Amino acid sequence: MPELPEVETVRRGLNQLTLSQEITGGDVLLDRTIAYPFSVDEFLAKIKGSAIASWHRRGKYLLAELSPPSPGWLGVHLRMTGQLLWLQQNEPLHKHTRVRLFFGNQQELRFVDQRTFGQMWWVPPGVPVESIITGLAKLAVDPFSPEFTVEYLANKLQKSRRPIKTALLDQSIVAGLGNIYADEALFKSGILPTTLCTDLQKKQIEPLRTAIIQVLSASIAAGGTTFSNFLNVKGVNGNYGGEAWVYNRTGEPCKVCGNVIGRIKLGGRSSHFCSQCQM
Ligand SMILES: [Zn+2]
Repeated sequence: MPELPEVETVRRGLNQLTLSQEITGGDVLLDRTIAYPFSVDEFLAKIKGSAIASWHRRGKYLLAELSPPSPGWLGVHLRMTGQLLWLQQNEPLHKHTRVRLFFGNQQELRFVDQRTFGQMWWVPPGVPVESIITGLAKLAVDPFSPEFTVEYLANKLQKSRRPIKTALLDQSIVAGLGNIYADEALFKSGILPTTLCTDLQKKQIEPLRTAIIQVLSASIAAGGTTFSNFLNVKGVNGNYGGEAWVYNRTGEPCKVCGNVIGRIKLGGRSSHFCSQCQM
């Protein structure tokens, strides 16, 4: 699943490649990719003739600001397997192509999505994007925003009786933090994933906040180094897999203490940890 760093890498790539070029048309191959409330025909009619002024990210949502004649927003959520590819229109269609947006010079922004959970929205001008892309309304602050303070995190967590790992995956607490980075941030801050939020000590919150920002930044930086390949981003482990401290390293030695990395299920998700480095 693409996590925040992959989505951020895609956003940066889109900002380099797709801006200020007229959208000349499109083709929707899977109707339900276009999310309520607009029909496929309305969606295509509304975005035609616009250009993308800039791409933004909120959590794992990508938001393209559209310029006149039809301003408003184009929203994209990649979900499990969505990929946005910038291609020539004559490139053979992938089996899982869902939406094609055509630009000048025979170029195309192609949405490929094997599992079909990905979605696209058109948001009319003057309407709050949250009123159409309702998932945005539930999003918490972004880990890179100035509002993501120690106080904010402490306040959100002290109300939760869940294990810290489960709470970190809650998009209403931290936006865009997924399984890989939650495991890594807990390792770096020395907190066991099973620790109940109510049992967290105040002095543990600051290292946790710092670790969340660090692991995400490191991954974005790694995504940046292979930037020209962003079109091929599979969104599975990002570029972080090879550098992970604990994620997907069950049974391997801890890189810090040599203890065997363990794995448990929490809230249906695998959690990887070192029982010596994390308490
Ligand atoms: Zn260890």
